[in-house]
Amino acid sequence: MRKTGSDMRLRNVAGSKEAISESRFVVQNPKEYKNRWNELFGNSNPIHIEIGMGKGRFIMDMAMFNPDINYIGIEKFSSVLIRGVQKMETQELPNLYFIRMDAEEITDVFGQEEVGKIYLNFSDPWPKERHAKRRLPSHEFLNRYNVILNKKGNIEFKTDNKELFTFALEQIDPAGWHLDKVTYDLHNDAAMMEGNVMTEYEERFSSMGNPIFKYIISR
Ligand code: SAM
Repeated sequence: MRKTGSDMRLRNVAGSKEAISESRFVVQNPKEYKNRWNELFGNSNPIHIEIGMGKGRFIMDMAMFNPDINYIGIEKFSSVLIRGVQKMETQELPNLYFIRMDAEEITDVFGQEEVGKIYLNFSDPWPKERHAKRRLPSHEFLNRYNVILNKKGNIEFKTDNKELFTFALEQIDPAGWHLDKVTYDLHNDAAMMEGNVMTEYEERFSSMGNPIFKYIISR
């Protein structure tokens, strides 16, 4: 995450850890739901996840617009996730849960082909080469997604970070994935913009004039 002043403050929201550990909108023991997430939702609708959901604007809007899809938002930091939890307290959505975890453990939480779609939005760039495998579109992560995503499923990735996007494109082929769609200027691409739901970072960086890059990949 870019360390702007407000983001740094968000890392220390007083009481956020406690509030998250008590929230009914946050799944406290996600590994126990492996292979039975549909029991939590009480239906057999597809499960779509966003990894690195931040404050949750995107996944909450998606859950509101698509009541027949179950959504799970994953976020590493309590201090950011708390904002999503607070929004759920005023606007509860039955088809959305949150998990506070590091996505490196994703295959312990979801069973084989249990997920229908994965969203990566404005993932942290981790610019140092030695941190490349922490990047959420890296081939290490693609291998994990390969396990949990059903064979017809796909990954949608958006970013304004050129270096990260170039890196992400290079990962697709060697990891055995296929590039279905790509744009280097989402907001001026009518076809790919159709039905686009903005994220917090997308709003911020597109309003500064940054083009938004997006790909959709599958196997
Ligand atoms: N997706 C949101 C958006 O587009 O507005 C937030 C983008 S923010 C730059 C990236 C978020 O991903 C941060 O909140 C960060 O904590 C989270 N994140 C990064 N790596 C993660 C990981 N390995 N597991 C879970 N969350 C992660």
